[in-house]
Amino acid sequence: MKTVIDPVKPMVALTFDDGPSLMYTPIILDILKEHNSSATFFVLGIEAERHPQILQRIVDEGNEIGNHSYSHLNLTLLSDAELAYQVETPQVIIERAIGYTPAILRPTYGFINDELIKKIPLPIILWSIDTVDWEVRNADTVYNSVIENVKDGDIILMHDIYPGTAEAVRRIVPELIDKGYQLVTVSEMGNARGVTLQPGNVYSNMYR
Ligand SMILES: [Zn+2]
Repeated sequence: MKTVIDPVKPMVALTFDDGPSLMYTPIILDILKEHNSSATFFVLGIEAERHPQILQRIVDEGNEIGNHSYSHLNLTLLSDAELAYQVETPQVIIERAIGYTPAILRPTYGFINDELIKKIPLPIILWSIDTVDWEVRNADTVYNSVIENVKDGDIILMHDIYPGTAEAVRRIVPELIDKGYQLVTVSEMGNARGVTLQPGNVYSNMYR
């Protein structure tokens, strides 16, 4: 069972983009569960379609699902109709698969502008620590980028589609807990910090 969140204690939100993946998302879910911790998974519609059973597991175990577009196009380059497709399709896929509707969105590549912020009907979540795991593909580097930089209220960007990331998470989760951090979802951290996540706003951290 998940530990009750103490709003006074430090917390961070681990986030995983571009899944769910059959290979690595279950490994990360196992690690989170073992340590009574939660994270947020910004899934692609196209992957959500393939792995509804993993979506179910993500929410059953107290984690959050966010929208990361249907097929990972650069949202800043799309027509209104294309943008609507990229944003709405994952909502429908996830809702139909498991009866859960994502309440937050992470734009692909973190590319966002004022016009896009107005058009996207969900709060937009960026990050305060980028592990660059997609580029380094190395567990030690990913681990160090988190452990050397982490502070209360961070939102940490990783991807649940690489073996090096899963390996890093196996060490990051217990180490952060040892350091006194609670590992919570983005929405849980918003609640704990008294931040109401709203469409039209962009959140990169939840510092006090
Ligand atoms: Zn992505």
